[in-house]
Amino acid sequence: MAFIKINKENFYHNLNQITLQTGSKEKIAIVLKDNAYGHGLVLMAKLASEFGIRHAVVRKTAEAQQIETLFETILVLGDSIIKHETYSYTINSIEAIDKAQRGAKVELKVDTGMHRNGIGIDELEEALVRIKKQGLELVGLMTHYRSADALSSELFWQQKQFEAVKEKVKKFGFKNIRIHSHNSAAILRSKGFTEDLVRVGIGAYGYNELPHPFDTHMLKPVLSLHAQKISTRVLKKGERVGYGGDYVAAKNMTVSTYDLGYGDGWHRGDSDTPFMTAEKLPIIGRVSMDFISLATDKDEICVFNDAKDAARQGDTISYEVLTALHSDIERRIV
Ligand SMILES: *Cc1c(COP(=O)(O)O)cnc(C)c1O
Repeated sequence: MAFIKINKENFYHNLNQITLQTGSKEKIAIVLKDNAYGHGLVLMAKLASEFGIRHAVVRKTAEAQQIETLFETILVLGDSIIKHETYSYTINSIEAIDKAQRGAKVELKVDTGMHRNGIGIDELEEALVRIKKQGLELVGLMTHYRSADALSSELFWQQKQFEAVKEKVKKFGFKNIRIHSHNSAAILRSKGFTEDLVRVGIGAYGYNELPHPFDTHMLKPVLSLHAQKISTRVLKKGERVGYGGDYVAAKNMTVSTYDLGYGDGWHRGDSDTPFMTAEKLPIIGRVSMDFISLATDKDEICVFNDAKDAARQGDTISYEVLTALHSDIERRIV
C-alpha cells in the first residue's frame, strides 16, 4: 500500500528553529488541526509532546479527545463551547458567547483586520461584559494575521490594532490571560517575541512560506509520500497507458503501476503536464482512483518529499497537498 514516512529528526529540527524565535519550547502551541496537516494527529501529537511541547491547537473537540493526555492545554478553534479541564475554546462571534456552557474556558479572538472570524474591535466591551455574565473563564486573547507571509506593512498595521486591544482588555480587569497572535510566518520573521504563545502549524511541518529576505530559517519537510508496485509490463512503441489512452509510448518501454490514486487524496492533475516524482519520474497518462503508472520497475517509489514542490506542480499550496492525504494511509516514523 501507499504509505507516508514521517521524519522525526526533521520535525525536531523545525521545532528547534521555532524555539530559537520564541525563546522557549513552552511558548509553542503546535497546531494539529486537519489530521496534523495530513501528517497524522495522534502520531504528531506524541512526537510533539516527547519534544517538550505542552500546548496544542485543534479544530474540533473530537480531535482534542484523541490527544487529551499529551498536553497541558488544548485550544479548540471552531466547535461548540463546553466546560472542560484541559480544553479552551475560541470565541469567534458575540453569539457564540451566549451559547457557551457556563464555566467553560474561552479565548477571545479579535478581528484586527483579517475579517474572517473573531469579534470586531468595536464589540470588545460588549464581548467582555457578556463573557462575565455568562460565567465563562477567559484564559486567552488572540488574533490572526492575514498577510504575515507578505512583504507589505499590513502585518504591522494589524499588530498595532492588537496592541490597542490588549490595553483595553487589561483595563477591564482580566488577569492571567495568555496573549497570542503569531502563526508560522509571523514568528519566523519576528524579532524580539514578547507574547505568551505562538500557534505554529506549517512551519513545524517544514515549510517556510516567507519570501526573501525572511526565508532565512532553513526548515525541513517532515512528510514524504511513497507508493508500492502492483505490476509491471513491457510496452511496444505506440501502445497507450491508462484511461483515455492519453499516454502513447514513444518507444518500447517498461511501465509499472503503483498503489496510489485520487482515492487516497492524491491530486488527479492533468496528463498533458505530467507530475514529476521526487526521483524525477513522470506520472504517465491519467491518475486513476487507486493507481498511477510510471516508466520504471522499482518496487517502491517516492512520489514527493517536499510538498511545496508538489504544490507548485499542482498549482496549489503545500497546505492543500498535505491535508488532502487520507487519514487511512499508513504513517511510519523514520
Ligand atoms: C491554522 C491556524 C494557525 C497556523 O497557521 P500556520 O500558517 O500553519 O502556522 C494559527 N492560528 C490559527 C487561528 C489557525 O487557524
